[in-house]
Amino acid sequence: MRSWQIIRWGEPLEPRDYPDPKPEGRQVVLRVLTSGICHSDLHLWQGYFDLGGGEKLDITTRGLQLPFTLGHEVLGEVVAVGPEVHEVRPGDRRIVYPWIGCGACADCARGEELLCVKPRVVGTWRDGGYSTHVLVPDARYLVDYDGLDPAVACTYACSGVTALSALKKTGLSRDDQTLLMVGCGGVGLQALQMARAVVPGRIVVAEPDPAKREAALAAGADHVVDNRDTKAAVQAVKDFSSGGAAAAIDFVGRPETARFAIDALRQKGGTLVVVGLYGDRLVYPLPLFPLRVLTVRGSYVGTLEDLREVVRYAKEGRLKPLPVKTVPIEHVNAAMADLAAGRVTGRIVLKP
Ligand SMILES: [Zn+2]
Ligand SMILES: [Zn+2]
Repeated sequence: MRSWQIIRWGEPLEPRDYPDPKPEGRQVVLRVLTSGICHSDLHLWQGYFDLGGGEKLDITTRGLQLPFTLGHEVLGEVVAVGPEVHEVRPGDRRIVYPWIGCGACADCARGEELLCVKPRVVGTWRDGGYSTHVLVPDARYLVDYDGLDPAVACTYACSGVTALSALKKTGLSRDDQTLLMVGCGGVGLQALQMARAVVPGRIVVAEPDPAKREAALAAGADHVVDNRDTKAAVQAVKDFSSGGAAAAIDFVGRPETARFAIDALRQKGGTLVVVGLYGDRLVYPLPLFPLRVLTVRGSYVGTLEDLREVVRYAKEGRLKPLPVKTVPIEHVNAAMADLAAGRVTGRIVLKP
């Protein structure tokens, strides 16, 4: 197999050839058909997350060794299965659920593998899909996508479940509520397309890029605002929502976007869900948490059940396909540069 790997942190990925993996026990090997490039891959490639104030979350301290193969939005065709696998056989095509825990602890047993402290995540802890082949630890993490476009379906493994899980965490329950979405990149757009199936109410999207605002309107946003001028944008959201959004999702995760989202929430009882991992830190007055009855919570990817739910919505025709651009995997470095520069509407998907 050939894998496009991080050899040195932050430097262009390089192709490396290895023997094809041999599955044991419950393992499955897939030939990769499509592999999405996620914004978080850019952080992993750099080797750290920016915590602000000069602090970094160094991912090498988590035990990640180089060379490493990124790619957690993977879809492929089964080419080999371990002796204990009965669910799939060679020729079957499946999406890989990548957010895999140890499989042995109490959290994993409840299906809460995201809370597991010994993860085996494909593409962030174990070699992922920027490759001709990928090894999956257990056949139970494969999800059928029959009838769906493989270039779109692979994105459900991260951007799809991330969008669904964040929407569920808003707690929205009534038609008279407004949801503010900040940022309309890959995950933001995916959430927008999914929102009608998951939450009631009206949706306003804040996004500085005019092309992405257009994409948001086309995807069903009720209103869009340009949040480069945050004061004017806060007022625009308040006017649209008669006093402020009931919930907001920050798909960017910068101090400016999170603060803007909190300021645009209703005076009391609003919820901010932070999803984006862009970096730096938020400073916010503590007395306003109780006085505004404010909830700020994080959301990270989604469960295996979430992936099944997203695929079900897609099969039922309730999700408009995300705009995707498929590029040969040999162009991975240029594609990552485009994503880093914000030149991508929707998702870039690699094809080995
Ligand atoms: Zn991702
Ligand atoms: Zn576990």
